Amino acid sequence: MQTIKDIPVRHFDALIIGAGGAGLRAALQLSNADLNVAVVSKVYPTRSHTVAAQGGINAALANVLPDDWHWHMFDTVKGSDYLGDQDAIEFMCREAPRAVYELEHFGIPFSRLENGNIYQRKFGGQSQNFGGEQAARTCAAADRTGHAMLHTLYQKNIQAKTQFFNEHFAVDLIKNEEGGVQGALVFSIESGEPVIIDARTTLLATGGVGQLFRTCTNALINTGDGFGMVLRAGFPVQDMEFFQFHPTGIAGKGMLITEGARGEGGYLVNAEGERFMERYAPNAKDLASRDVVSRSIYTEVKEGRGCGANKDFVYLKLDHLGADVIKKRLPGIRDMCKTFLGIDPIEKPIPVYPTAHYTMGGIPTDINAQVVAPSKHSPEQAITGLYAAGESACVSVHGANRLGGNSLLDILVFGRAAANHMIEYLKENSYHHALDNESLDHAINHLKRWDDDSEGESVPALRDELRAVMEEHCGVFRSKEILSEGVDKVKAIVDRISDARIHDHSKVFNTARVEALELENLAECALATIISALHREESRGAHSRVDFDSRDDQNWMKHSLFHKGDDVPEYKPVRTKPLTVETFPPKERTY
Ligand SMILES: Cc1cc2nc3c(=O)[nH]c(=O)nc-3n(C[C@H](O)[C@H](O)[C@H](O)COP(=O)(O)OP(=O)(O)OC[C@H]3O[C@@H](n4cnc5c(N)ncnc54)[C@H](O)[C@@H]3O)c2cc1C
Repeated sequence: MQTIKDIPVRHFDALIIGAGGAGLRAALQLSNADLNVAVVSKVYPTRSHTVAAQGGINAALANVLPDDWHWHMFDTVKGSDYLGDQDAIEFMCREAPRAVYELEHFGIPFSRLENGNIYQRKFGGQSQNFGGEQAARTCAAADRTGHAMLHTLYQKNIQAKTQFFNEHFAVDLIKNEEGGVQGALVFSIESGEPVIIDARTTLLATGGVGQLFRTCTNALINTGDGFGMVLRAGFPVQDMEFFQFHPTGIAGKGMLITEGARGEGGYLVNAEGERFMERYAPNAKDLASRDVVSRSIYTEVKEGRGCGANKDFVYLKLDHLGADVIKKRLPGIRDMCKTFLGIDPIEKPIPVYPTAHYTMGGIPTDINAQVVAPSKHSPEQAITGLYAAGESACVSVHGANRLGGNSLLDILVFGRAAANHMIEYLKENSYHHALDNESLDHAINHLKRWDDDSEGESVPALRDELRAVMEEHCGVFRSKEILSEGVDKVKAIVDRISDARIHDHSKVFNTARVEALELENLAECALATIISALHREESRGAHSRVDFDSRDDQNWMKHSLFHKGDDVPEYKPVRTKPLTVETFPPKERTY
């Protein structure tokens, strides 16, 4: 086998980093085109976070109530607080029915209506007729949609003979001598052995960075590794100040209670038993957009109307729905409440509080999922060979706030779009270039840095500190004072990471090494997020500033781009022009 610097090299047409829905949808398309595809995942593929998705996937199928992709597009643009790129949003909403029928043909066990059509539930921020009555657009497999989807896609990939590098950790991207990206350095978590994967195209599908906050709905693996890799390679991340706090995490623990619970008719009450969402969103009530509901819960608690001895949560009531609906439509939620709270939601309400959930920002891409970075000549220059899709990408269909059910859609539509562009690119570019020596050395030294077994600070302690700082200084409501203090604290932690060491190499070497590399990636994301948040002096979507409490389209209808080492982000315009329809101009956003 060929080696470079004593490390084995494997050659592929395409390297996909990440085996969630985005990575697997792309891999399937590429393998079916007879390309040689490697999928690298730090966990066994079916443990990727996509497996945890509960509520469902949006598509204007009109199976339950009238619907139209134009309405879906309007809701998504409005939900994004007008920061979403309208070409990408149009593309996603138009493609949605095809993406869902394709999944159906792959064999996903959707819940069904009496007439055999796919069941669709009501979700937040959905409307008929451009802001009218509530729509029902979310296709569901009970409350385990992501589980059904990920297993289906994995099995299709096995059938298509995709090659998996399971429990392999990607450390850094590798460039070629032409300046394009050509694969990555990875290592086997079991043996610690490094491998250079030299691939003519590379897709980052590494998911989000929910672990940035102490209380979150995300899996432990969601540490933003793709963002770290991109920043270290000299490319920017976009709109990182927009982080979604889901309104209904289990209070104090963070696990998600799907919006589908409110979609099925559940509602929130405060300590006085009042259905308080009627005051904040008179029309949509409990199905207002997530940023709106999270802020409302936070305000209820802050103003003393929280429930429980410490008045620090509100209740989500489902008991009026009846045992049949809960058992049929929300069986996973019921299990979770029984296991973690000792409560059966058929009988008692669930204590809930906002919890960190979804990364709206990410690696900037165009609608073909090519990674784009600003250059001297253009705000968007594609980086040869590099793609990103799914939660790790910012294309941007979610803008400042994502609607529930739109992420499972995003990962399928842009996973497939990425693969289609990669197939075309590979037809024109049939050779591997020589790898760039400097970028190889960077990656190898980065990995080796953690072999040093001298004394130093503990990785887990630093990680806990970082997550607590982010929760305290970059949460649901923000201000200049709180954010500036947070920036200083994050920078101090980042400095200490360079002195951190893995303790006790003999016992836990590789998992500890993974945690150390993840901490570095979390720290890159923390800086990008909190610095971008400090500089955005307006309130838009999930970014709520108490000192700048309204949206400022004049000055701030633009995407932020953060580069490693910068203290101030750059900005680029929002793509307000859709592909074929008229632009939806910004309006006041009420629900
Ligand atoms: C609890 C929960 C419920 C949700 N419910 C819904 C819902 O109902 N509807 C909806 O639309 N959205 C939902 N979402 C959001 C949605 O599930 C995610 O945004 C989406 O599944 C992300 O898919 P992905 O393919 O981008 O990444 P993921 O599924 O997160 O996969 C990331 C992959 O990257 C790999 N990886 C990461 N770093 C490395 C590395 N360094 N080396 C190697 N591999 C690496 C991981 O192993 C994994 O395979 C939910 C999210 C959560 C957390």
